[in-house]
Amino acid sequence: MSLTSRILLAMVAGVLVGSGLNALFHIDLVPGLEGVINTYLVGGLFDVVGRIFVASLKLLVVPLVLVSLVCGSSSLGNSARMGPIAGKTMLLYLVTTAIAVTVALIAAVLIGPGEGVNLVSNVSFQATPPPPLTDVLVNIFPTNPVRAMAEGKMLQIIVFALLFGYAISHAGEPGQRIASFFRDLEAVVMKMVDVLMHLAPYGVFALLAKLFSTMGISAILDLATYFFTVLAVLLFHVLVTYSLLLKGLTGLSPRILLSKMRPVWAFAFSTASSGATLPITLRTVENRLGVHNSVAGFTVPLGATINMDGTAIMQGVATVFIAQVYGMDLSMGAYIMVVITATLASIGTAAVPGVGLITLAMVLSQVGIPVEGIALIIGVDRLLDMVRTAVNVTGDSVVSVAVARSENQFDEEVFLDERANQDDDDSDSNAVSASPPTV
Ligand code: ASP
Repeated sequence: MSLTSRILLAMVAGVLVGSGLNALFHIDLVPGLEGVINTYLVGGLFDVVGRIFVASLKLLVVPLVLVSLVCGSSSLGNSARMGPIAGKTMLLYLVTTAIAVTVALIAAVLIGPGEGVNLVSNVSFQATPPPPLTDVLVNIFPTNPVRAMAEGKMLQIIVFALLFGYAISHAGEPGQRIASFFRDLEAVVMKMVDVLMHLAPYGVFALLAKLFSTMGISAILDLATYFFTVLAVLLFHVLVTYSLLLKGLTGLSPRILLSKMRPVWAFAFSTASSGATLPITLRTVENRLGVHNSVAGFTVPLGATINMDGTAIMQGVATVFIAQVYGMDLSMGAYIMVVITATLASIGTAAVPGVGLITLAMVLSQVGIPVEGIALIIGVDRLLDMVRTAVNVTGDSVVSVAVARSENQFDEEVFLDERANQDDDDSDSNAVSASPPTV
């Protein structure tokens, strides 16, 4: 069985085992059994394996972003293409997010998930005030690159790596030596990602089994319309918006792209973090979608940090839902405000689980909706977070392909080859991943 199939199977098995345990706990068949299972299996084995898996994914993020961005920007440095690449990427990220919120708002207004809903929540939500915009901008620039890396400040690492790569390409022979060192380093770090991929079935299984054994399904029933509205828009965004965008901008087949995204989705779904999924996204975008490292090294880490269409969709639907529950009418101006703030909020959302809900406070307060309303949707947020994270990483991949194609930094043969770098049992078959695809 290919690794992709094993990861997907582990995902299904995790959901089934977790839900089975959850049902068992409810029936309470053998008194005392729940305690034993919770201590040794759910809180023991599953928890430990899941946490080690996420830790090892996160471990790779900083080295991978640094080396691939240095390699990418050093190979582009002399060609003056960095500016246009950055410009196109930012534009596409912003436009897709704005489309995502707009569709979410339209769907929510049409469906009316909060109409007639009478919810009182016993969970409270305390909003933290967002930092001033000037601080956000200034904080993109690191004062100390080592600290930026130690603290995993992604935008700061990106700025440092871009500058470093640019300097390498302009530093003559010493620059060339450093560049070749970084290329070797990249091959080694990518190999670490390969190794981790082979452990993924266990990690994915443990994370999902634990989560589903504790997840109450009743919360979903109370909020069914809200839940399914968000899901429907997420699906629409992937199947319609991204597919049209890819077809329109590149002429490439969305079906091929989406089928190659499956292992990335499994990681995104089980970790609910675009940050932790980043190593796998980058590996897939480069080795299976054919995007040259010079583009992917920039677009993927940047996308994981600032491009969150799935999050923006949740925020759009949630805003309308909470307004409806509170019986508030939103004006056209308020809707436009929501599009702008949700786009900005998605930029400011950290690529870890659950942060989209925190930045939703910013959107709600902009249009005068009580932020305590967030408490109403907390119960179903984790499951939505898993799905929206998968959408977030898909957006990063689609934009990477579009930008790479327009810049001629794209290998169509790799894209079209359905089996390119498929993660079969023989890990040596991945040896190609060490070198970026030729353009
Ligand atoms: N979990 C999401 C991500 O990492 C962010 C969020 O919406 O909370 O992409």
